[in-house]
Amino acid sequence: MKLDSLELEDILGADNVALDDETCRIYSEDAANLPMLASQIIDNRFEVVAQPVTVESIRKLLDYTRKYRIPLVPRGNGTSGWGGSIPTRGGICLSLTQMSRVIHLDDYGCTVTAEAGMTWRELLMFLERLGMTLPVYPSSATAATIGGFVASGGLGIGSSKHGDIREQVVGLEAVLANGMLVRVGDLQLGPQPDQLEKEAREGTKWLESFLEESGLNLKEVLTGTYGTLGIITKVTLRTVPRLQLLPFACSFGNMNDLVQAAQKILENALPYHLRYLDSNHTSKLAALIGWPLERGNFILAGALHGTIYDNEDAMGAVTTIVEEGKGIMLEENRADFYWSERLFPLRFKRQGPSLVPAEVLVPVENLALIHEDTLAALGNSKIAVEGTIGADGEASYLVWILDDERKKLRYTIGWHRSFDIASLAPKHQGSAYAIALWNTHHAADFYGAAKFNQLVELKKKVDPSNLLNPLKVFGGRAQFAWQSQAFGFVVGYLAALIVGSVGPNLLGLEWLRTLLASTPHPLLPIQLIWILSFLGGGLGLLIIKLMTVNQALSVGIPLLRLVDRLIRK
Ligand SMILES: Cc1cc2nc3c(=O)[nH]c(=O)nc-3n(C[C@H](O)[C@H](O)[C@H](O)COP(=O)(O)OP(=O)(O)OC[C@H]3O[C@@H](n4cnc5c(N)ncnc54)[C@H](O)[C@@H]3O)c2cc1C
Repeated sequence: MKLDSLELEDILGADNVALDDETCRIYSEDAANLPMLASQIIDNRFEVVAQPVTVESIRKLLDYTRKYRIPLVPRGNGTSGWGGSIPTRGGICLSLTQMSRVIHLDDYGCTVTAEAGMTWRELLMFLERLGMTLPVYPSSATAATIGGFVASGGLGIGSSKHGDIREQVVGLEAVLANGMLVRVGDLQLGPQPDQLEKEAREGTKWLESFLEESGLNLKEVLTGTYGTLGIITKVTLRTVPRLQLLPFACSFGNMNDLVQAAQKILENALPYHLRYLDSNHTSKLAALIGWPLERGNFILAGALHGTIYDNEDAMGAVTTIVEEGKGIMLEENRADFYWSERLFPLRFKRQGPSLVPAEVLVPVENLALIHEDTLAALGNSKIAVEGTIGADGEASYLVWILDDERKKLRYTIGWHRSFDIASLAPKHQGSAYAIALWNTHHAADFYGAAKFNQLVELKKKVDPSNLLNPLKVFGGRAQFAWQSQAFGFVVGYLAALIVGSVGPNLLGLEWLRTLLASTPHPLLPIQLIWILSFLGGGLGLLIIKLMTVNQALSVGIPLLRLVDRLIRK
């Protein structure tokens, strides 16, 4: 791989390129603490961090990566934990955080256009001063970027009323992996001169003609595909008027009662946000804050957003549903507390100090069942469960597994638990919450087989060398470290040696034993069995080199599970 820092500085500006180890290390991580074994299957260290400030420089950077065949990973602020923004083959980190301006506000049409690197908090601050707000934003709003959340898709604060973040995207601009600029939907750029109009028209036309044959729509290609097909540069989002926000919170004795009340509240009170916390979560929170536990310690908390008259009616409906559903309405100060906590869901991390996330999407009516299965699967692991209930009745079920990454071996062994939870989803008519890197074996179910095949075709078309965010969503060959390659060689070598030494005796094949003990040529005074063992080693090495990440995980995860069981016994 050729990395020419001068050429990169020419493209991006000298201040926007970092090559030092410390910066590259920091940008190579996301919110999850990776176990040491991860570096055996991916090359998880960037060599350069690039922070472009213009769309043109992103296009030139993509030309550069194609010219030298260098992998490139788009990154917002790395707040996700599914490996979407970490490197898998080294290369360049394309950090979008310097592109963070509001481009256009249409207060009558209720839309706002911003650059992809802006954080949700910054955009909320801009809008709320003007009497508007966002229908949906992630609970990581203080750090997560617009591009990162739109590229991931998913539920956030406000999704109980307004649905998934993808539904809030009115239009977007992106640079495809092949360098083409595309504009999707009703992207609003305002009155300023548009220097890229011609390029955008050509690129969009090209993409439309490709998609016409495939049946995919432009928006679904770029939202929820984790930056594998293109880099989002600008997004036009829906806004809503900022009305009265009225938090509420109630407690229940068990998950079943909570779920039943949640379904009724969703239907009858149209809450803006509806979030639940299980007793494992609330007990940890209570210990940290020093407040007594609620009487029922399964919490359903949320907020209504509407006129004071709408909210009065809706709050009446919530109170009736909770009281009839064996729940307790909590006092106003508790409701306010849970509302303000929505942006700090990791407060209990210090009890870890590390967190392993596991998240699935299930119909709300199956929450209690998957919770039971999770508790059974995770035994006495330290966990905290929470989730958001979406407008369409789908709920996220997020398990934070508390662990300690400083205990390297134990932490690595326990890593299988995150995969175990994801594999519970189909039993409960659910799916993985996110695909990114670690869930690619769920990709066909997640997108639907037909759509996934079309995405695969598009990926081949726009990124034939698999340089843009490699291994994410579409999987691919693992990048094994030398230790794993040596392991493959040794295992192959020993297997061939054992079979060659013991096999002929066991099978009573004297001729084979004699043959293996012979030397093939006077100029090569080595017994045939040693040569075969060496070839066995070569085969072991080849198998390792050809393995995909999914295959490596499907061997590795059951092994970790087995070792974990043996240790616990
Ligand atoms: C405390 C906390 C709360 C969270 N709450 C939520 C929540 O409410 N809902 C939820 O769904 N998730 C949540 N998450 C997960 C995560 O924060 C979100 O997915 C978030 O939107 C990611 O934003 P980011 O800027 O950090 O993106 P990153 O983590 O940097 O990237 C996420 C993915 O998007 C890609 N990407 C980033 N920017 C671009 C771009 N401009 N163009 C193309 N691809 C891009 C990356 O390559 C990667 O695949 C939470 C995480 C934490 C730590």
